[in-house]
Amino acid sequence: MSELIARDKAYVANTYNRFPVEIVSGKGSEVFDAAGKRYIDMGSGIGVTSFGISDDAWKQAVTAQLDRVQHMSNLYYTEPCVRLAELLCERTGMKKVFFGNSGAEANECAIKVARKYAAEKKGPEYSTIITLVNSFHGRTLTTLAATGQEHYHELFQPLTPGFVHAPAEDIEALEALVREHRVAGILLECVQGEGGVIALSKEYLQAVEAIAKREDILLMIDEVQTGNGRTGELYAYMNYGISPDVVTTAKGIGGGLPLGAALLGEKAEAVLGFGDHGSTFGGNPVACAGAVSILSRMDDAFLADVREKSRFVFDSLKNAEGVESVSGLGLMVGIKTKKPAAEVLKTCMENGVLCLTAKDKVRLLPALNIPMEILAEAVEIIKRACV
Ligand SMILES: *Cc1c(COP(=O)(O)O)cnc(C)c1O
Repeated sequence: MSELIARDKAYVANTYNRFPVEIVSGKGSEVFDAAGKRYIDMGSGIGVTSFGISDDAWKQAVTAQLDRVQHMSNLYYTEPCVRLAELLCERTGMKKVFFGNSGAEANECAIKVARKYAAEKKGPEYSTIITLVNSFHGRTLTTLAATGQEHYHELFQPLTPGFVHAPAEDIEALEALVREHRVAGILLECVQGEGGVIALSKEYLQAVEAIAKREDILLMIDEVQTGNGRTGELYAYMNYGISPDVVTTAKGIGGGLPLGAALLGEKAEAVLGFGDHGSTFGGNPVACAGAVSILSRMDDAFLADVREKSRFVFDSLKNAEGVESVSGLGLMVGIKTKKPAAEVLKTCMENGVLCLTAKDKVRLLPALNIPMEILAEAVEIIKRACV
């Protein structure tokens, strides 16, 4: 292990503060390190492995496609990409899908759509995108500009211009920005993930939607983390009774392979034309075949099960010793602990549970199909680590 760490330090860019653990195998919500120690995975690769590690049906779909064709350019038709777009539209009522390879790329597409929509309807000066303070939208220079957290911006100026940030839950502040700027769109997460697992209120999101409709600016929901069953509905916006114009997603949709998507509603579907946007890998048939397997198993019974597991986690933790509060939605959980989150994480790891953090909270994003008894075992270990 120390040898692997030394090689990583020598050759891999120094952007991650990794834990000194090498994961070599796993199944479902259990993973094993090089020494054979078992961990319960409560992070699922930051909400990516929706059905856990080495999921049989997903693997079958992926390998079957690998046996056919692993990649063609977007100059030709491939079935998995079409099937996935069709499934996404059927399940959401959205009209068209653009595929990329990551959350940041999905958001880049959304931002381009909003700007072109506004430029054609109102003029190119209507280019401002409003996002929220404490949001996270990605690491490219444009999605960093969208991200409403100054500390990500500092060393990378100048970022893409045309982004302003409104404090969440303050509808007057949003109205003021709409008055002061020529706005193309509003981009936000229903549950701020990296920002501390904070679910927005229904009243606020419905008020935001009303402003977007009134002003004819695109309402774009970043479902990169909240999407694909994570909150107990297929997409988080479905908990809020709103109809966004654009939905972006990535992380959990691919089940472990890189895949991002921008779902375009009625207002947005015809905005992009030939040559306006593209991606070499976007819509890759292997990634899409895996995603079709993931998405087609997320039926009503599956989502009800996610909500039931969510209730169990919230009920078990909310009054537990050493826990100040529990936030989030579905199986996207933030735990404000009395001890520093890093300390709780370390104890959990020693005791065989892998968790994440978000700001000053312990964050849980388990696989959505985590068996109840393994979930209960993990929650018990987390509770003990909080004391
Ligand atoms: C992770 C995340 C992103 C960025 O996704 P990448 O795939 O890392 O580019 C964007 N938005 C939200 C809400 C995220 O959680």
